[in-house]
Amino acid sequence: MKLAVIEGDGIGREVIPAAVKVLDAFGLEFEIVPLELGYTRWERTGTAMSSEDLDTIKGCDAVLFGAVTTVPDPSYKSVLLTIRKELDLYANIRPVKPLPGITGVAGRNDFDFIIVRENTEGLYSGIEEIGPELSWTKRIITRKGSERIAEYACKLAKERKNRLTIVHKSNVLKSDKLFLDVCRKTAAAYGIEYGDMLVDSMAYSLIMHPERYDVVVTTNLFGDILSDMCAALVGSLGLVPSANIGDRYAFFEPVHGSAPDIAGKGIANPLAAILCVKMLLEWMGESRSRIIDEAIAHVLQKKIITPDLGGTASTIEVGNAVAEYIVKNV
Ligand code: NAD
Repeated sequence: MKLAVIEGDGIGREVIPAAVKVLDAFGLEFEIVPLELGYTRWERTGTAMSSEDLDTIKGCDAVLFGAVTTVPDPSYKSVLLTIRKELDLYANIRPVKPLPGITGVAGRNDFDFIIVRENTEGLYSGIEEIGPELSWTKRIITRKGSERIAEYACKLAKERKNRLTIVHKSNVLKSDKLFLDVCRKTAAAYGIEYGDMLVDSMAYSLIMHPERYDVVVTTNLFGDILSDMCAALVGSLGLVPSANIGDRYAFFEPVHGSAPDIAGKGIANPLAAILCVKMLLEWMGESRSRIIDEAIAHVLQKKIITPDLGGTASTIEVGNAVAEYIVKNV
């Protein structure tokens, strides 16, 4: 297994070393290919990612990624969007599950759902024109894109509670009617109990009634926003992992960004990045991945926690504590 490791910018450079330490604790055979990509590199060299880097990534099986800073400079091409498109990582999977002893804004821990976000089209099409008087971005919804994400979500729903919620805004964005129709048809074909929600009501409902949901499928931007909001349900952006899955490659990254406000202080929560390692191991079919949940429960119970959760531990201390538990118990 060849794994590209891209720390990126800001706290990506702090949380990914902690996650790699946890991966090392399993003693698995990985060929690690480190790559420096992102804004820091762009500032130094004028290139955030070259075509050779992309070839190197395509020569790997999977990617572990921290976060990159994206600047609103039209000449700066988003590394993340380019990789998602080039590797055709069409399904962005974001589990929203409470961790033991941690409650988020809603003060509850009776929920466990997964947001399945279409990852290659929608408002992140990259087709846009920026002008002083008029700027626009094209929002793309295709039958093919909708079908494959609907299929992915339905297969996942079959493995879970057989329930699917389709999130859209087809009352205003008529293009969403195609997405909604395809998802409904696919869910019916899979024999899944399904319903749909407008994204604005869904935002409210996810905070008020998160226990109602199991698999939630939606378009690119809605999924991006809802999953950050759901990090508040879990308790911190530093706790939510994600996977970008395609037919050939998989790419794992915490939901959070490069967090310039805390970068360099050594206090970023590495648990989202560590949970990305769990998702990577699951994707590989490694059943021992479950021990990561146990290790995290152990460090939370011992209150080895970073300041976002009210603790005083550093990124390195949390990473080391999780890794030590795994070495002893795997
Ligand atoms: P952010 O997720 O970086 O930070 C939002 C807030 O959450 C900040 O207060 C930050 O300190 C806190 N936070 C985030 N992760 C944390 C962690 N692991 N532990 C403790 N606290 C944490 O979002 P932002 O500030 O809007 O974006 C900063 C930069 O990151 C921007 O350039 C943005 O484009 C980029 N970004 C990148 C990705 C990615 O690479 N996947 C995702 C989102 C944002």
